[in-house]
Amino acid sequence: MEIFGLDVGAFRFGSFVSIFVIMAIIETLIPRRERRFTRSKRWTVNLGIMVSDFLAVSAVTIVVPVAAISMALLAEANGWGILYLVSLPVWLEWLIAIVVLDWVIWAQHLATHKIPILWRIHRVHHSDVEMDASTAVRFHPVEIVFSLFVKAIAIVILGPAALAVVVFEALVNGSALFNHANFKLPLGVDKIVRRVFVTPDMHRVHHSVHHEETDSNYGFFLSIWDQLFGTYVAQPKDGHDKMVVGLNEWQDDAPARLSWAMMLPFTNPPRSKKNVKNSK
Ligand SMILES: [Zn+2]
Repeated sequence: MEIFGLDVGAFRFGSFVSIFVIMAIIETLIPRRERRFTRSKRWTVNLGIMVSDFLAVSAVTIVVPVAAISMALLAEANGWGILYLVSLPVWLEWLIAIVVLDWVIWAQHLATHKIPILWRIHRVHHSDVEMDASTAVRFHPVEIVFSLFVKAIAIVILGPAALAVVVFEALVNGSALFNHANFKLPLGVDKIVRRVFVTPDMHRVHHSVHHEETDSNYGFFLSIWDQLFGTYVAQPKDGHDKMVVGLNEWQDDAPARLSWAMMLPFTNPPRSKKNVKNSK
């Protein structure tokens, strides 16, 4: 299958790498916050986690062909899903597919904060003590595989065109790289963009150590869901420069160790009076 004259795999890899590089350059030139920790150690771990994710997804999809694109092709071949029951213009089908799948990702993200066992896995993402483009790939392999199955179920129920799924995944991944990046988007631009899309300032609130801020702004691509469902928080109460990013329990360089990050779902937070208040 081809998209814009490129093989789907090449398109996905090319769009991911180019957006990653652009974000890394922009956040170096116009950073939003001063770094407390250097890039080198964190990036090694975050990219290490990404490689583990790739291996885990490859292993799972060899056994069960559950990748989003495979499921969309299967739905296409069998005429499965709501969108195959109705006759709509292609552009509208694509729009519905992208908006609905984005809601599914939003709802899954909300669930990873509300269900204790899922939070244990998702907190690997939140344990990063800085936020930049590399944080966007810091998800424990178990969460990535879980997400694979959630998307597969959504695709079989909805029945979107396979190419719409490829474009949706590229949009969400590109958007995650954009809104985790530590760069200064002019405030006027941020104000307009965040009416529809998640901006770096909006998503940074979600990475605050304060519980009520972590439990807000769940969107990765469209900002409309948080605004609709009352989980939108405009700015961090400590301000973007002073706010502390990460988890209250681990504000040292432990999160910058690959083995630590992989074991975090099975680790209990250290007990200390200071940490109890804001911990989950
Ligand atoms: Zn989260």
